[in-house]
Amino acid sequence: MYNSTLKRKTPLKQKTALKAYTPLKAKKSLRQCQEEKAKRGEVKKTYAKPYKPKHRYESIFTKDLKRCFITGAENGFSDGEYHDIHIHHIFGASNKANSEKYHYVIPLRDDWHNMASYGVHIDRNLDLALKQICQEDFIKYHGSRTDFIKIFGKFWTGGGDEISRYRQRLSPGTRKAA
Ligand SMILES: [Zn+2]
Repeated sequence: MYNSTLKRKTPLKQKTALKAYTPLKAKKSLRQCQEEKAKRGEVKKTYAKPYKPKHRYESIFTKDLKRCFITGAENGFSDGEYHDIHIHHIFGASNKANSEKYHYVIPLRDDWHNMASYGVHIDRNLDLALKQICQEDFIKYHGSRTDFIKIFGKFWTGGGDEISRYRQRLSPGTRKAA
């Protein structure tokens, strides 16, 4: 028979009961609290607001914003699965409005957007290829590299073979509007 020589070093029962210092349910939502604090000037308004487009979507890549520029798919079944078409801002975050203004948006099937490892939000090469195509468009039609940096804050350089492959595949107008 098994005979344990191990001795328990901690008592089974805690001597002091745990006390809940915060109520289980918040009386106000986090957003409400943040808004009130912001009103009192205690914090800056930093909570994320749902993004609203500032300009009507137009793309230097294609006229057909309902069709994925890479796969040619529309909303619905393609390659055996249901997919949505997303509008991707080539320059994101604080540059979303600038991307819209200069038509640096592209329709992508959700997997090519952010739902798969090869999607633009995950594959840095694809992201960089698209950014560089747009930068060239800017220099061709809008201003200098310095102007671009003034507006977008940065100029994206670098990349190897993978980027040139993407760039060939993705040059504007390679897919004709349906
Ligand atoms: Zn995106």
